[in-house]
Amino acid sequence: MSIAAGYTGRFAPSPTGPLHFGSLLAALASYLDARARNGRWLIRIEDLDPPREQPGASDQILKTLEHFGLHWDGEVVYQSHRLEHYAEIVQHLLDKKLAYRCRCSRSELKQRDALYSYDGYCLSTPPDPDAECAIRTRCSDNLLTFEDLIQGRQSWQHDTGRDDFIIFRRDGLFAYQLAVVVDDHAQGVTSVIRGSDLLDETFRQLQLQHHLGYPTPEYGHIPILLNRLGQKLSKQNLAPALITDQAVKQLWEALNLLGQNPDPSLQSASSTELLDWATTHWQRNCIPRTLAIRSSGS
Ligand code: GLU
Repeated sequence: MSIAAGYTGRFAPSPTGPLHFGSLLAALASYLDARARNGRWLIRIEDLDPPREQPGASDQILKTLEHFGLHWDGEVVYQSHRLEHYAEIVQHLLDKKLAYRCRCSRSELKQRDALYSYDGYCLSTPPDPDAECAIRTRCSDNLLTFEDLIQGRQSWQHDTGRDDFIIFRRDGLFAYQLAVVVDDHAQGVTSVIRGSDLLDETFRQLQLQHHLGYPTPEYGHIPILLNRLGQKLSKQNLAPALITDQAVKQLWEALNLLGQNPDPSLQSASSTELLDWATTHWQRNCIPRTLAIRSSGS
């Protein structure tokens, strides 16, 4: 993969099920932000966690994107093909003492009230060399800040040791945090537009970029949609799949929620015409920071 000059955006779905309306918002916002700036738009399938994946979901996601007219540039990248690369980076972080082995199980962490805020046990008591271990990366007590393109200034005071997070799991899988940072860098991604459920994760990604000497892309977090119960629309809580024969209607509705104010007459346009209109008229600063609960039952 080569680093592109100019704007490079991406959409990075996990193939845990079909795309739903919440995923369409993220795909559409990242697509339009890239196209409005004459940028490239890439697709990366984040298939790192086989037990959570649904057979056939990757192909279905790609077909749905094409059906909605969201055509990407270049080859689709599959994280499952990049494991050797992640392993090299983990080894590099271990060698640099920016990561360490951790043998604490979930239940031990729970017992010690250290599940969400690590107590540094394996830093002070290194595990036996042959123990089955996860790998944590270290967080320094920096104040991390970034200017979110949609949500405004964000900051996080890392708590030394307490915020050390997993980059390789005890069950042998690489963690999302590691793969996303390595791949955004390898694909030359300059701009990440995604759901605000990932806002807090961004600080961990900044920390890893710092460890690895990578430049930080610009980030914009769009508001997430909630269902009638106030839960995030997600594959886990069975958000309904996008209806491919209603692509224009759903694109129009998504544009409306993204604050782009499409004219109602555009509902009878083709998806290509609607996306062309949306690219020309894209106004990132009109995206609301939060969304009202969507009442349609999805
Ligand atoms: N794969 C993640 C998801 O489907 C998105 C990761 C990202 O955009 O950084 O929720």
